[in-house]
Amino acid sequence: MSTLTRPRICGARIPLAKDLMVHAYAEGRGVGGMVRGSLLCEVAEHDDDRHWGIARELAEPHGGAVWATWLDGEAPRCLTRKDCPQPGTGSAEACALFAGHPGVCSHLLDQALRADPDRVERIDAALAILATFDRYEAHTVHTAAHDAALLAWDELRARRLWVSMPDCDQAAVHRLVSRTGSVGARDPHAVAEFAREAVEVTFLWQRSDTGRLPRGESATSQLKILDSLTPEWQAVVLGNQRSPKSWSPHASTPRTPLAEALDDACRQAADGQEPPLASDSWAAPWDHKEDRVRGARVAERLTRLPYGWRVDVMRRIGSGTESLAAVSDAMMAINILRAFGLRLAWNSGQQARSLLNSG
Ligand SMILES: [Zn+2]
Ligand SMILES: [Zn+2]
Repeated sequence: MSTLTRPRICGARIPLAKDLMVHAYAEGRGVGGMVRGSLLCEVAEHDDDRHWGIARELAEPHGGAVWATWLDGEAPRCLTRKDCPQPGTGSAEACALFAGHPGVCSHLLDQALRADPDRVERIDAALAILATFDRYEAHTVHTAAHDAALLAWDELRARRLWVSMPDCDQAAVHRLVSRTGSVGARDPHAVAEFAREAVEVTFLWQRSDTGRLPRGESATSQLKILDSLTPEWQAVVLGNQRSPKSWSPHASTPRTPLAEALDDACRQAADGQEPPLASDSWAAPWDHKEDRVRGARVAERLTRLPYGWRVDVMRRIGSGTESLAAVSDAMMAINILRAFGLRLAWNSGQQARSLLNSG
């Protein structure tokens, strides 16, 4: 079957409501497995309006999953289903659907989601809510965050833009998805930041000349420069990428921009200079032992991330996020994404090396 004639994935998506979460745990009670943060109809596009999405994967040795099934506009219900026994063909993985699923097996599906004009309408409605979130209840803001991030990711896949996006932009979209559960009306700064990033993602199909999210290219070259430095110089650069402490006499001193800090370190390293010894005191604004230790920790954590995520962390540090927060957010996001069916591999070679070094 050629790709052109393959059916697409249905791709209907709804948030997974709290009471459904309870049902998803009740089905297959006692069996481990995380509830999904969202329901996506994963079967082949279909004419009837019955959808099927994974609500909770059931841990081995039980296997299978709790599937939610729903009709458009109606509440879903949960059913435990065994995995489809159909093995993959050639290099394709085994079917990811359930035994007796409608339509063809998942390895015979076009991985693009079905095109759906309603999807963009829902994204626009969600962005409008996020733009004036203080007028809405937390639940409405949550749903809007879900729709803005998840449906934008779906739309990129439906338009076949996703597969050609650079790794760092895929990481940025995934990071947005990971935050949908924590966006509430409580932290205005976080909601505004989330909304701004969600709007940037919609530009990828609306009006992007480059087909890229902002600052990805500069972050890519900055990571290259960072990687060329010794661990000691990396610790200096990354340790200084933080906010001044309020009690410090240098609290009002803005930090050296990342690009400049990298250039400085590169130049001094090229001259054969070792990093200056970190001082105990606040005699110099950015030269403190604790910062150096933090910088080394950031550098070590950075090596564990998949490449695109490393670039995305550099992009965030370059935009003013504290380096330790940027790298910790990335690690947390990768863990949270398992609730959206995404299992991203850590950078295992580097991880093994860093574990070896720290052991
Ligand atoms: Zn469907
Ligand atoms: Zn199958």
